[in-house]
Amino acid sequence: MNRFSYARPDSVADAVRAVAGNPAAKFIAGGTNLVDLMKYNVERPTQLVDTARLPGLKEITETAESGLRIGALVTNTAAAYDARVQERYPLLSSTILAGATPQLRNAATTGGNLLQRTRCYYFYDSSTPCNKREPGSGCPAKTGQNRILGILGTSDQCIATHPSDMCVALAALEAVVKVSGPNGERDIPFAEFHRLPGSTPEKDTNLGHDEVVLAVELPESRFPTHYTYLKVRDRLSYAFALVSAAVGLEMDGDTVSEARIALGGVAHKPWRVPEAEAMLRGKTADRAVFQAVAERMLEGAVGYQHNAFKTNLAKRVIVRALSQAAAGTPQSQTDKRIQ
Ligand SMILES: Cc1cc2nc3c(=O)[nH]c(=O)nc-3n(C[C@H](O)[C@H](O)[C@H](O)COP(=O)(O)OP(=O)(O)OC[C@H]3O[C@@H](n4cnc5c(N)ncnc54)[C@H](O)[C@@H]3O)c2cc1C
Ligand code: SF4
Repeated sequence: MNRFSYARPDSVADAVRAVAGNPAAKFIAGGTNLVDLMKYNVERPTQLVDTARLPGLKEITETAESGLRIGALVTNTAAAYDARVQERYPLLSSTILAGATPQLRNAATTGGNLLQRTRCYYFYDSSTPCNKREPGSGCPAKTGQNRILGILGTSDQCIATHPSDMCVALAALEAVVKVSGPNGERDIPFAEFHRLPGSTPEKDTNLGHDEVVLAVELPESRFPTHYTYLKVRDRLSYAFALVSAAVGLEMDGDTVSEARIALGGVAHKPWRVPEAEAMLRGKTADRAVFQAVAERMLEGAVGYQHNAFKTNLAKRVIVRALSQAAAGTPQSQTDKRIQ
């Protein structure tokens, strides 16, 4: 590991100033991803600016719009088991509890979860080329080990996926990311927070280097009864998604009145297709409609040697998740026993 200095400022302004003044500085929260990356020599910050003492970032509070504001330092455990989250946004709770382990969730934070980096093997191995780690060096994953990588929105530069479970629900719930930087505060709609790789795969998000995440805001209660997070992975626990789907429905009897679907494990960002969601509105919830929606969501998918299976898998995951959500029988229910 390289040498670095460490600061623990007491105000957001000081934290932003510290990072803005050094292109090689980084914020750190729970450290569960960043410290690993430093050990692998993938991230080489010369200064770490700890967010732990920043005021007001550890709370979950009500918003004026009847939503919830989840501070960037709220741990994944605290968010998942918050009674208001469980009652009003059980989809979010389900996704968080489908990720990592209880120990990791106790340390991992809301802000850090948004900014965790891809799990592409080549990205973590600094002895191999990787356009995301070292722009212009190449992408061995396209012809190499790509089982866990993307099939939608990829580019010839990078086919990585965003690994978060929580972010899949935040996309479906249309959260807003509140950030602060040298020019003050701004809001980033969740759909615009993460980027596709394009020709700049080194950039995962539209957050500036000198901007700190303050919180994630959720709109008014969404999909409290008809929701599902379905995560398919190589092991039942302690594994990232091969494909996942977060589904929220509003039902009027057997008819879908509103729908949100986001996919994880398939793209550089949680994948939504608003036109596919619109296909559900006003329709009776049945398998034929769900299959048509799944086909639309996977339009344009391109598989590689070891991950082509993901296209059909994703379609089946969507159909099953929609069926479960419509029936009001979520698979990944919040399990109070795992606390
Ligand atoms: C073995 C293992 C298994 C895992 N399994 C899963 C899984 O199944 N599903 C899943 O979703 N996740 C999984 N994770 C990832 C885990 O959820 C993330 O490591 C965690 O959420 C990161 O949060 P953190 O607070 O520790 O972030 P850190 O490691 O502290 O930081 C991560 C990044 O966020 C930046 N950052 C942190 N806070 C802020 C802020 N407020 N403003 C701006 N930048 C900030 C840092 O600069 C850094 O770039 C796993 C991790 C491990 C180690
Ligand atoms: S897929 Fe992206 S992260 Fe993986 S090797 Fe290629 S450029 Fe690097």
